[in-house]
Amino acid sequence: MLDTDILITGAGSAGLTLALLLAKNSPDLQITVLEQGPAPQAGAVSLSRVSALNLASQRVLDSLGVWQLLNAKPAYQQMQVWEADSFARIEFATSDLGALDVQSGSSSPALGWIVDNEELRCCLYQRAQQYPNIQWKFDARIQQISASERQNLLTLADGSAYISKLLVGADGANSLVREQLKMPLAFWDYDHHGLVAVVRTSAPHQATARQVFLPTGPLALLPLADPHLVSIVWSVAPERAAELIALPAEQFNQALTAASQSVLGVLSVQTERRSYPLKMRYASQWVKHNAVLVADAAHTIHPLAGQGMNLGLMDVCALAELIVQNISTGRTCNEQRMLRQYERWRKAEAQQMIALMEAFKRGFMLQHPLAKLVRAVGMAATNQLAPVKRQLLAAALGNQGDLPAVARPGVISL
Ligand SMILES: Cc1cc2nc3c(=O)[nH]c(=O)nc-3n(C[C@H](O)[C@H](O)[C@H](O)COP(=O)(O)OP(=O)(O)OC[C@H]3O[C@@H](n4cnc5c(N)ncnc54)[C@H](O)[C@@H]3O)c2cc1C
Repeated sequence: MLDTDILITGAGSAGLTLALLLAKNSPDLQITVLEQGPAPQAGAVSLSRVSALNLASQRVLDSLGVWQLLNAKPAYQQMQVWEADSFARIEFATSDLGALDVQSGSSSPALGWIVDNEELRCCLYQRAQQYPNIQWKFDARIQQISASERQNLLTLADGSAYISKLLVGADGANSLVREQLKMPLAFWDYDHHGLVAVVRTSAPHQATARQVFLPTGPLALLPLADPHLVSIVWSVAPERAAELIALPAEQFNQALTAASQSVLGVLSVQTERRSYPLKMRYASQWVKHNAVLVADAAHTIHPLAGQGMNLGLMDVCALAELIVQNISTGRTCNEQRMLRQYERWRKAEAQQMIALMEAFKRGFMLQHPLAKLVRAVGMAATNQLAPVKRQLLAAALGNQGDLPAVARPGVISL
C-alpha cells in the first residue's frame, strides 16, 4: 500500500501544473501523479491539438519555468471576429491594450499565444521531474476509488493500492473520479462537433486570430509559427462534421475556403481531420470528503472563445495557493474549510464563463433579421468604444475576475 499526501489522477495540463505548483512551493508534501497513458514524450509536437493561452496562463507557466521550455508559442497581435452575412465585425489589436499592457516575461505585447497541447505536457513533465517529492505512475488502470472523511483509497488493476490525504480528479471531461465518487454532473449538448486540423493558407495570417460566425456555428483560424499555417476549430452539427471529415481533401478545401470567406485566400488541409463532440459539463459538487475536482473534470465549455484550458489552469493555481497557505500555517492539505473555499471561488468563475459562452453561442445562432441587425449595430458600436474594447480585452487576456496570486499582473511566483 502506497501512502501519499496528495494523489492526482490525470497528467494533462491541469494535473501536471498542479503537481508542479505544489512540489515547488511545499517541498515536504508527497505528491503522486497517476496517468492512464504513457509518459509525455519530448519532440511530440504534432499540432493535432493546440490551445490559445491567455496572459494569466502565460504568467503561470512563466513563473514555473515552463514557458521558456516551449519551442513553439506563436503570439497573436490582432483578433478579428465577424459575422458571415452581416456587417457585424469587431477587431482588437495590441494597440488597444493601453494601460492593460502589463505583461511579464514576453518581449513584445500579445493578445494571446498558441501552444501545442502535447508539447505543453512534455515541458510541464520535464520541469516536474526535477522535484523529488513527485512520484509518477504511468499506464495506470484505476479499478476502484473510495473517499471517506479519514482518507482516500484507490486501487489499480495491477493490484497496487494508494492511500492519500487528498485525491484530486484532474482526469478530464469523462472523469472517473467524478463518476466513481458519484459527484453529480449537469450537462447539455452544444449540438456541435469541433473539427480540428492544420491548414495552409495562400495569404499570410499576419499573427491574427480570426473567428467567423456562420449560421451553422463558428469557424476559428488560429495563427501558427509558419505565417502560412493556421489551426482551425470548425464548429458544426455532428452530421456535418462527419460529412466534412469524409470529403476528399479537395472538396473539403473548397468548403473550408468558402466558409472562411477567403479571408486568408485559398485554404488546403495539411493534417488528419479530427472532430470532438462539444458539451457543456458542470459538476454541481467539486468536493466530496477528501476528494476534489479541477479543470475539465469539473467543467467543460464551448471552445469558441478558447478559454477551457485557461480556466482549468486557474483552478489548479487557486487550489495550490490555498493548500500551500494552509500548510505554511500548520494546517492540513485536506482541511474541509479550505476545500470549500476552493470550490466556492472557482465555481463562481466557471459559472460566469459557462453563461458567457452560452450567451455567445445562442446570440450568434439567432438568424432573425432583427437579431442580426442588433448584433451588427452592437458590434460596430463596441468597435468604436475604446473603454468597452479594453474591458473585453481584459476578459480575453484573463486579467479579470478573482485571479490566483501567481496569475496576477506583476507577480512572478506564489
Ligand atoms: C476542439 C477544442 C479546442 C479547444 N481549444 C482551446 C483553446 O484554444 N484554449 C483553451 O484554453 N482551451 C481550449 N480547449 C479546452 C482544452 O483543450 C481543455 O480544457 C484542456 O485540455 C483540459 O485539460 P485537463 O488537464 O483538465 O484535461 P485533459 O487534457 O483531458 O487531461 C486529462 C488527463 O487525464 C488522463 N486520464 C483520463 N482518465 C484517466 C483515468 N481513469 N486514470 C488516469 N488518468 C486518466 C488523460 O489520459 C489525460 O492525460 C479546447 C477544447 C476542444 C475540444
